[in-house]
Order: sequence, then C-alpha cells, then structure tokens
Amino acid sequence: MLVKTKEVAPSVYAITIPTPFLVGPVNVYVIEGEALTLVDTGVKTDEAKKVLAYELGELGYSFSDIELVVLTHHHPDHIGLVEEFGHATIAAHPKTEPWLKGDPLFVEEKNAFFRKLYIAHGVEANIVDLIEKTNSFYMKYSSTMDVEVYLREGNYIDGLPGWTVIETPGHAQSQISLYRESDGILISGDHLIAHISSNAIIEAPYGDETERPKTLLQYRDSLRKCLHVKRAFSGHGEPVDNPKKLIEERLQKQVEKAKGIKYLLGEERLTSFEICKRLYPQMYTKQPGLTLSETLGHLDLLEEMGQVTAVKEGNVYIYSAVE
Ligand SMILES: [Zn+2]
Repeated sequence: MLVKTKEVAPSVYAITIPTPFLVGPVNVYVIEGEALTLVDTGVKTDEAKKVLAYELGELGYSFSDIELVVLTHHHPDHIGLVEEFGHATIAAHPKTEPWLKGDPLFVEEKNAFFRKLYIAHGVEANIVDLIEKTNSFYMKYSSTMDVEVYLREGNYIDGLPGWTVIETPGHAQSQISLYRESDGILISGDHLIAHISSNAIIEAPYGDETERPKTLLQYRDSLRKCLHVKRAFSGHGEPVDNPKKLIEERLQKQVEKAKGIKYLLGEERLTSFEICKRLYPQMYTKQPGLTLSETLGHLDLLEEMGQVTAVKEGNVYIYSAVE
C-alpha cells in the first residue's frame, strides 16, 4: 500500500482513503481519546473499506475497536462507510441525520425545492437532468445509519475530553469542525482545505426554515470563526499550516471573484445561470451543480455588498449591477 497512516498531532492519526470522485482521496482521522474515535469514514466502496481496514490495522486496531464515530458533514466521501460501525456511538450535527436516514419526506421536499430554485435561476431542463444524475451518482456511495449524539456549537464530546465542536456551515449545512484547545488544532472536514477552495454548496432549507441558506455568506462567517486555529487537518489534501493566512486569502479571493462577476455583468440583465455559463463556459456542463453554487454564492455576496440587485420577474430572478 502506498498511503501510510501517520500521527499528525499527539494521539491523532490521519488515514487517506481513495474515492471515485473528482476531489480525489479523503482523509479520515483516528483519535486515541477516552473513546477510540474515528472522524469520518470514507466512501462506500470495497477499495475504501479495504484501505481503511488495512490502515487501522497498522495502528493495531480493527473496525470493531472503534467506539465513537464523529461525522464532520453529510457528504458521501465522509460518511459512506458508517454502516461498518453500527456497534459504535455515532455523533454528528443534527442536519446530518436526514441524509443518513434517507428520510423520504426530506428527499421529496429537497427535490421539490431544487426544481423551483432551478427555474427561478434560469437553469435549462437538460442541465437540471444532469444535476440530478450527478447527485444520484454521489448518493450511491453513501450509507444509512442513526445519529445517536447530536453535536452543536460549543459542545464537549463524551469520550473526547479536550475537544469541542465548532459549527462551520457553508460547504455543507451539517459541517462541524473539532477543536482541541490544548494545542489549537482543528479537524476541519471540508471547511478548510489547503489546495482547493471549498465550494459553498447550495442546499435546501431544513425543517422549519423557509429560505435557502446563503451558503457563501455563511461560509465566510464560518471562516472568520477559525482565525485563531494554529493548524488544521483537512478532509482532503495536506494539513493547513497557517490557517489564518489561508482564511484571509480565501475571504479576499471571494471578494475579488464577486467583483469580477459584477464586471462581467456590465450593463446587462441576466439570470444567475446565464452568468454561470459565461463564468464557466467549459465546466458548467460537466459540473453544473457546483458551478451554479459558485455563481449564486458570489451573487449573494455582491447583493450583500450592495453591488448587485436581484429582481423577480415572473418566476425568474434577474440580476443587474448597481452603479
Ligand atoms: Zn464535502
């Protein structure tokens, strides 16, 4: 095996697991706390399961030794193998739960919400089909499981003394990070990634919420919550050695990108999907969901900055620049 499990911080071990996704391999973490803990599980494939078993074995453990599984967020590359840990306590943000349950009402409401959203943003029917196909491709690699312990902002975790939960929504509504105060380290899931900027993916409202969350604005707030972190261990790629610097760069780049969109908009009146096609002329057909999230997120930012307005005409939002 090429990948080698390594101790990245005292009592914290990183395991890198392959995924069939564009993002590449995913990192999960073993914490030797009071409870032997696994943070994230990797994707549901035979190959991933084999690698996880092998690497746990290198540390002297097997699946059955894991007592606590903490999930950083609901994406399949992070939760896909959770079914292997039915014997352990499963802890996650409450918004992970409907995904793990595959709750039919949740799925139906989510799909209905997205159909409306796509119409409201001018997405063509063939692209909607493509987004739905991509989503069901991803969901094949997910898992079903009950969440036993809800993790929320500021919570301590039974079995993991010294660690606290920071809610870091933006990339996913269910996204949490785990912070260890004694040495200032963060297990950040996909909240902080060194080599790629995390996509603030559009999601439907949950439960009683009525509006879609403005995910890029949320993401920016969540970034600012982590400025004090000394080192971050990410769901993908290498550790983040200087989180403050990375966060400041990300915040700045988002503003620059937003300004670029305003410039591109010029004096035209366009839907967000028309803007998306101009921004990503090649990529929008390959990754329509992600490119639309990027576009809409930065339009939300421009609106917040007072640089752009959105007016609903009929069923569709039209964006124009403010002079
Ligand atoms: Zn993710």
